[in-house]
Amino acid sequence: MEDMASHIKLKRMESSLQSRDVAGVHDFVLLENYGSEDAFINNLQKRFNTDIIYTYIGPVLVSVNPYKNIPIYTDDVIKTYRNIHYFEAIPHIYAVTNTAYQALKEENKDQCILISGESGAGKTEASKKILQCIAVTTGRTNQVESVKEKLLQSTPLLEAFGNAKTTRNDNSSRFGKYMDIIFNYIGDTIGGSLLNYLLEKSRVVMQAPGERNFHIFYQLLSSSDASLLDSLHLSPNTYYHYLNTSIVSMKDNEIDDIGQFRVVKRAMDVIELSEQEQTAIFTLVASILHLGNVGFSQDENGNASINAPETIATVAKLLACDAAQLTHALEKKTIIARGDSVTTPLNKELAMYARDALAKAIYDRMFTWLVQRLNSSLRPVDDEFNRTKVMGILDIYGFEIFGKNSFEQFCINYCNEKLQQLFIELTLKSEQEEYFREGIEWVPVQYFDNKVICDLIEERHKGIISLLDEECLRPGDTSDMGFLNKMSINLVDHKHFVSYSKAERTMLKQIPRDEFQLVHYAGKVTYSVHGFVDKNNDLLFRNLIEVMASTKNTITKAVFTEKELESKKRPETAASQFKKSLNKLMQILVTKDPSYVRCIKPNNEQTSGIFDEQLVRHQVQYLGLMENLRVRRAGFAYRRTYDVFLKRYKSLCPGTWPNFNGDPKDGVALLTQHLQYNKYEFSMGKTKIFIRYPKTLFMTEDLFQLK
Ligand code: ADP
Ligand code: MG
Repeated sequence: MEDMASHIKLKRMESSLQSRDVAGVHDFVLLENYGSEDAFINNLQKRFNTDIIYTYIGPVLVSVNPYKNIPIYTDDVIKTYRNIHYFEAIPHIYAVTNTAYQALKEENKDQCILISGESGAGKTEASKKILQCIAVTTGRTNQVESVKEKLLQSTPLLEAFGNAKTTRNDNSSRFGKYMDIIFNYIGDTIGGSLLNYLLEKSRVVMQAPGERNFHIFYQLLSSSDASLLDSLHLSPNTYYHYLNTSIVSMKDNEIDDIGQFRVVKRAMDVIELSEQEQTAIFTLVASILHLGNVGFSQDENGNASINAPETIATVAKLLACDAAQLTHALEKKTIIARGDSVTTPLNKELAMYARDALAKAIYDRMFTWLVQRLNSSLRPVDDEFNRTKVMGILDIYGFEIFGKNSFEQFCINYCNEKLQQLFIELTLKSEQEEYFREGIEWVPVQYFDNKVICDLIEERHKGIISLLDEECLRPGDTSDMGFLNKMSINLVDHKHFVSYSKAERTMLKQIPRDEFQLVHYAGKVTYSVHGFVDKNNDLLFRNLIEVMASTKNTITKAVFTEKELESKKRPETAASQFKKSLNKLMQILVTKDPSYVRCIKPNNEQTSGIFDEQLVRHQVQYLGLMENLRVRRAGFAYRRTYDVFLKRYKSLCPGTWPNFNGDPKDGVALLTQHLQYNKYEFSMGKTKIFIRYPKTLFMTEDLFQLK
């Protein structure tokens, strides 16, 4: 502990003096050449090379993934950060967490920490560090301990079901997550609540080369619990179509599936999932694997029939439903037309489509069920209602540009537009509000407002989502090209939309006929229109829902219901649902005091020691970090309450040292006079001193360090 304290103190000195050359500046506002992107990146790189992965832009934390363990995450470090202000020690995620936690306690205001960055940049790790920090910081009663343990265990549990190996990240989150940690009035953790966003369910039935399905499939198959596997009719030797492999032939040395399965089982116990619930979950995972192995043949009339009746029998047995009914539902579809139900046979292609749709639906709904189950386990016991405060943590997919971009990327990038919008509103808004509150003049800075892109996507009647829904809900043959045509006609004049016809007309770089391009705030992305209508409709044939509702499995029974069948209303489309849940999220976030963690990925190799300058530059650009810095610098780079400022620097002035008993504001006035601060360089607010140029603070800090 003592050691750590002196280590941090040492780093503190380092970052104020010599380290301006060695390890860069710890806050970008201190950069001499703050307008230069090169200087910015250079500073990041210098620090990265000396294993200093965190840097501030004022209150925003920039984090570069080190891809190796750096010994800065011990409980002792957390304790060291507990009693200092965030600018007093080298930047750290614990400092951000602690500052938010203190504000929650002292100002009695809900907080949220928003973590952004592209896949593999370190968002999920950051969210775990925040949880760890809160767990170490808050009270020790049995009840609090039990809640904290549940909160911590929710992470490996959700990761098993919602994460997968991708080419970008061996443990990539394939869903968005917002978690509220709930505190009572003395700041102890008393519960939590989770919201999940858009699980990438297409992964259940298909994965890109080099990628895997969700971890849980491999974990279950690697389990050493032979009787469990037996009861689920699973074997590591069998080839599973949805995994594209058998588990025996698939060795991924990087991933410890066997060990993780034990972790998941333990997490389930901690969360208090009953034996029956756990069995229901594993049964569904197994059923999906079996379902994937159901193939079809097609007769001369083009009617599909199942060619693996024994596999269907296994699925039916596991789910406890009628095998004949399940077979029927996979080979034929039933629709209700004018009150009559009409059954038509499916061809092979459609039957496979129905099978995959069922597998995806089961998995997706099971995941949401799990999140809700976690919520009921995390619900605070003694409802101290209006006296509770929350700290939200948002860990959600970053902006994505792939070789081929589809509906999923469209939704993810839309989500990032919304978050960027919030970032703009909140950073500028809070900046302005503070100057106003403190009675200080300031001139707003110009910045690109991406509201225009949010509108392009979500505006009622005119936006892309509306046009897509219009195509999906239209009677007759709907098609992806029909949707693209609608956009091309309606959005022809929009600056942020480009399609084939528009590109041709304006002699822009060609865009293929079946693609469209959006000019996002973070860059241009070209989307292939194929699959948009289908994925948005997200259709599950009626008779499949019927079979699922008839099962005895606790989960399928609960998530496929008769009520769903009785409902006359068409279910909401996927994009509309997503839009609604995002707008709800925005409403949740604006009521809280935000902190930002901006994560950067140093290379695409997932390895330590490599700082790919081009890659980093691109992220710095689209995270809007330079703009962020400009806004920060345009006003007053530094602000501190009078008492904090005085406490730190009082020894520099005979008027405040060794004795000063007056109002801290008067003390600071004496101090600035003595240090000969130029009157343009600072401003005295109601409770804080605002310092425009970092140089001023530099000098004061140097004096302090040299003393
Ligand atoms: P994201 O959630 O942004 O996709 P992750 O948080 O999953 O990315 O990080 C990807 C990987 O990078 C992790 O599995 C871990 O190996 C490594 N990593 C991320 N942050 C850190 C860190 N602070 N220290 C060490 N390794 C890290
Ligand atoms: Mg993640």
